[in-house]
Amino acid sequence: MDEFDFIIVGAGSAGCTLASRLSENGKYNICLMEAGGKDTNPWIHVPIGYAKLFTNKNVNWLYQTKYDDGWVKRSMAAPRGKVLGGSSSINGMIYIRGQKEDYNHWRQLGNTGWSYDDILPYFKKAEIQERGENEFHGISGNLHVSDHKDNHPLAKAYVDAAVEEGFKANNDFNGETQEGFGPYQWTTYKGRRWSAAKAYLSDVKKKKNVTIITGAHATKIIFDQKVAKQIEYIKDGKINVIQANKEIILSLGAFNSPQLLQLSGIGPKKLLDSYGIETVHELKGVGENLQDHINAPVIYQLNKPFTVNDVYNNFFRRIGSGLEYIFKRKGMLSMGVAYAGGFFKTNETFETSDIQSLVLMFSTTAIGGAPHKYPGVTVVCTLLRPESRGYVKISSSDPLSPPEIAPNYLSVESDRQKLLDAIRIVRRICENKNFSKYVVQEEYPGLDKDSDDQLLDYLKDMSRTSYHPVGTCKMGTDNMAVVDNELKVSGVRSLRVVDASIMPTLVSGNTNAPTIMIAEKASDMILNSHK
Ligand SMILES: Cc1cc2nc3c(=O)[nH]c(=O)nc-3n(C[C@H](O)[C@H](O)[C@H](O)COP(=O)(O)OP(=O)(O)OC[C@H]3O[C@@H](n4cnc5c(N)ncnc54)[C@H](O)[C@@H]3O)c2cc1C
Repeated sequence: MDEFDFIIVGAGSAGCTLASRLSENGKYNICLMEAGGKDTNPWIHVPIGYAKLFTNKNVNWLYQTKYDDGWVKRSMAAPRGKVLGGSSSINGMIYIRGQKEDYNHWRQLGNTGWSYDDILPYFKKAEIQERGENEFHGISGNLHVSDHKDNHPLAKAYVDAAVEEGFKANNDFNGETQEGFGPYQWTTYKGRRWSAAKAYLSDVKKKKNVTIITGAHATKIIFDQKVAKQIEYIKDGKINVIQANKEIILSLGAFNSPQLLQLSGIGPKKLLDSYGIETVHELKGVGENLQDHINAPVIYQLNKPFTVNDVYNNFFRRIGSGLEYIFKRKGMLSMGVAYAGGFFKTNETFETSDIQSLVLMFSTTAIGGAPHKYPGVTVVCTLLRPESRGYVKISSSDPLSPPEIAPNYLSVESDRQKLLDAIRIVRRICENKNFSKYVVQEEYPGLDKDSDDQLLDYLKDMSRTSYHPVGTCKMGTDNMAVVDNELKVSGVRSLRVVDASIMPTLVSGNTNAPTIMIAEKASDMILNSHK
C-alpha cells in the first residue's frame, strides 16, 4: 500500500492551495487526489469558456438539487468542478473576499483566530494584485488578480447611473469598504483564467514529494478506532487504498465533503443507520447548515449590438472577437462573468450591504443555454447573507451515487423580501438616463410585473443560484459544528476538512478567494501542529 504523510482529497480551490503550501518545505510526502481529470479542456483557460463548461460532464459533476417542495417548487442545476482546480476551473472568476463583518461574526461565534484581522494576512499571502501592494493587497502570492482591459460603455453606464442615483462609487470592493459601485477584478492573468490549479499546482507538479492522482474517486475514509488512517478510492474501475501517516484532509467541497464523511460513518446516526453504515462517530451537523447565494436576474433588451448575445449570434462578430482575443487578449472572450456592479443595502437601517449586483454582458432564459437573439444584458441581484438553510445527505450507500442536495432557497420570508426590494432598486438605477439610453425594454420580470405578488411569482420561477454553497461541515463550538477552529473533525483524530464547507455562515460575496484564504490559513495550522 502506498503511504504518504498527508492525503488531500479533492484538488479544487482549497486542495490545490494545500498541496502547494504543505509541500513547500520539502519535508512531507503528499498525495493530492482528484475524481476529475487534468485541466486540458481549452475552454477552461479562455475566460468566456465558463459558459461552455456549465453542461460539460467531463469537467462538471452536473448536480441537480432535489425537487424543492418548499417555496420555489422546482429543482435547479448545481454545477461543481470535477477537474484539477475544481470549481475554480469552471467559475466566473470574480474576485471578492466578503465583508470584514463576516469574519468578525465568525469570531463572535466562538471561532478564535478567524476575525478579519486574523484572516486578512492570508488573503494577502495568496494574492498577486495587479494594482500593487497596500494594506489590503499582496503581490507575492500565487493567485493573479487583474483588472479587465475593456472599457465597455454599458459597465460604465451602470456605475454612473448608480452614482447619480445616490450610491457611492467604489474602485476596490476588497479594500477599506465593500459598499458602492465600480469595476470587478478577476482571477485571470494576461487574459487567461487563473484557477487554483494554475496558481498553485504549476510548481507542485514538478516536485518529487507530491503525487497527484487524477480520475480517483474517494469512496471511504478508513478509521482505526477513531483515527483516520486510509482512503479508499476507485480508479479505472479498481478499488485502491492508500495510507496517511500524519493526516487526511478533506477538500471535496460543500457537497462532497459531508457526503464522504457520512459514507465513512461520521454524521447523524439515524441517517447512517438507514443506509446500513456503521457509525464511527456521531456528528449531527454533517451535511446540515447548507447556505447558498440566490439571485434575481433583471434582463434588458438593448438598442446596440455590443453584448455577448450579438457576438454569439453573428458569424462575423464571432470571428472579430476571436481575433481580438488571439492578438490582444481583450474583448468578450477574455471576460470574467461581469465587468462591473456594486454592493448596496435594501434598507438604510442595515449595517452593511445585503445585496451584490453584477452586470452580465449577456442574457439567456435557460442557464447554460443559448443567449437571446436580441442585444441583452442581465443585472443580477444576489442576496448576500440568506437566512434560508438546507442540507446535503447521502441518498444511497453507493459512494458513486450523487448526494441529495436541498438548499431550501428563499424558504425564509425576509430573504424573499430583500430580493424583491433589490429588484426595485436595480430598476431605479437602470431607469437613470446614463443606463436607460441603451435600453429598449425590460424583458424580465417586465414592467407589467410590479406588485409584490407578481415579483414573488417571478422569483419562484426565475431566481437562480450564484453557485456558492457553503456551511455543510461548519466550524464552531456548538453541537451542530463539525470542525473546530483548527478545522479538525470533532471526535476523531488525524482528519480535517478544509474547503468552503467549513464556513459557519456564508460570506458576503463570491466564495473562491475566501476558500483559498481558508486553505492558506489551514496550511499554516497544519504545518505548525507537526513541527
Ligand atoms: C459555475 C460556478 C461559478 C462560480 N463563480 C464564482 C466566481 O465568479 N467567483 C468566486 O469567487 N467563486 C465562484 N464560484 C464558487 C467558487 O468557485 C467555489 O466556492 C470554490 O471553488 C469552492 O472551492 P472548494 O475547494 O470548496 O471546492 P471545489 O473547488 O469544488 O473542489 C472540490 C474538488 O473535490 C473533488 N471531489 C469531489 N468529490 C470527490 C471524491 N469523492 N473523490 C475525489 N475528489 C472529489 C471535485 O472534483 C473538486 O475538484 C463559482 C462556482 C461555480 C460552480
